[in-house]
Amino acid sequence: MRILRAAHLGMCFGVRDAIALALEHADAGPLTILGDLVHNPTVLSALEAKGIAVAQDISHVKTPTVMVTAHGTSERTLARTRGLGLTVVEATCPLVHVAHRAVTALARDGYHVVIVGQRDHVEVRGLTGDLDRFDVVLEDDDVLALEEHPRLGVAAQTTQSVEKVRHVVDLIRRRFPQSEVRFVDTVCKPTKQRQSAAVEMARQADVVVVVGGRSSNNTRELVKTCARYCARVHHVQTEADVRPEWFEAAAVVGLTAGTSTPDAVINRVEARIRLRADATAGQVRFCADASASAPATADRSAGQVEVLR
Ligand code: SF4
Repeated sequence: MRILRAAHLGMCFGVRDAIALALEHADAGPLTILGDLVHNPTVLSALEAKGIAVAQDISHVKTPTVMVTAHGTSERTLARTRGLGLTVVEATCPLVHVAHRAVTALARDGYHVVIVGQRDHVEVRGLTGDLDRFDVVLEDDDVLALEEHPRLGVAAQTTQSVEKVRHVVDLIRRRFPQSEVRFVDTVCKPTKQRQSAAVEMARQADVVVVVGGRSSNNTRELVKTCARYCARVHHVQTEADVRPEWFEAAAVVGLTAGTSTPDAVINRVEARIRLRADATAGQVRFCADASASAPATADRSAGQVEVLR
């Protein structure tokens, strides 16, 4: 059995930077993170072990400094937080800022803003928090429930599947042929890279294992994407979830991970898969262009590394 890592997988720069910022500020004094810094239980436990508190609501913050997560927040929430006398540390990912600026520009230019994303997701709440009127859509039925506006400005939650977003935009255009529909693609590059690398990998795999938090949107999107190309897809949070029976009669096991999954967790899952399978001398193949972009922690030394071009 061979393990095939996706060319792009695991933690993105936005999450890495946010964790580094949290650890830096925790060393300087008591810190509370507003919401989950990332949707990954392993990372959250590590932050908790450093004494970093987590509060889901500003009213529960007991430290003088509070951190906004990589998912970002609205200007209104920032102002309210500062108004309470709290010092705000922003770990908002620069690509979430790009999405905020796109939404602000659409609203300023007179478009009725429509976000393609999950209504209750923290990032979507941040994207819409400064708007008085907007809509959030994700499924076809949501589009059918939209009201007509002469100008519709569509942007997306950064971690949505770009295929899905394009489908929804197309549906909006067909539903409102009289309206001017402007679409700004705010799905972030790391998400797109992980999705296209997952497709490339899943096409060649008999079984796919996706590593990431159960509540991580981009991990769940990877699961759905892989399931379109491979019939046997499993979502695990850690190596403890890996089941030996998944790999029966599998020649190629594909591996990918969401943008909040630490390298160490991915490597432990890979090691567990190797244990579970009849280790055929630990061959690891990377998909196209992997030589430049495969994670530095990939265990290339464990066996033969084959780069597919
Ligand atoms: S998934 Fe994209 S937007 Fe979110 S933190 Fe990572 S790079 Fe930034």
